[in-house]
Amino acid sequence: MEKSIFTRIMENEIPARIEYEDDKVIVIHDIAPKAKVHLLIIPRKPIPTLMDVTEEDLPLIGHIHQVAQKLAQKLELKGFRLINNCGKEGGQEVFHIHFHLLSGFHE
Ligand code: AMP
Repeated sequence: MEKSIFTRIMENEIPARIEYEDDKVIVIHDIAPKAKVHLLIIPRKPIPTLMDVTEEDLPLIGHIHQVAQKLAQKLELKGFRLINNCGKEGGQEVFHIHFHLLSGFHE
């Protein structure tokens, strides 16, 4: 399978503004932000879509939610949206699972 743009960012082939990283995920600023804060939480494991998540990936999905919570605390967000676009019909463009963390709609 061809490397996704997000894998290429993780491998330092393409630059990105990194907000956070650990052994399981990387968090970058979206290149075309749709809100004042628009981050992408991306697992290092290149799962194509939410429909490809298996039972063994469930701790990873939990970790992504915990990272969202920690980022909200660190960035002092008053609220946020955590969105996954799944499949072409769901508006997904990059087929390496990721969660959009958006905030700042009423500032
Ligand atoms: P989705 O439509 O859910 O697949 O979202 C893909 C997101 O990736 C879009 O919001 C794009 O703006 C964002 N994106 C694409 N390429 C890059 C990049 N090189 N750096 C940061 N964000 C990107």
